Amino acid sequence: MTTEVRVISEGTAELQVPHSCPTCDGALELRISPDGARSFCATCHTIGKPRLHQDAHHGIALHFRDLGRC
Ligand SMILES: [Zn+2]
Repeated sequence: MTTEVRVISEGTAELQVPHSCPTCDGALELRISPDGARSFCATCHTIGKPRLHQDAHHGIALHFRDLGRC
């Protein structure tokens, strides 16, 4: 899996994570900033606030809680 990370500014980056939407398994647009992470699914339009856990061995893990579903 290749993930392209776009650095927006210092401390803020965006990346697309395929098959990561907890609702529809679609691709998530993920924005990571000093305030935390936000995710947006272009397929089902679910906005989430995943918790990021950075692991030296397994990379970045996403944990979804409190999904902002309408
Ligand atoms: Zn989705």
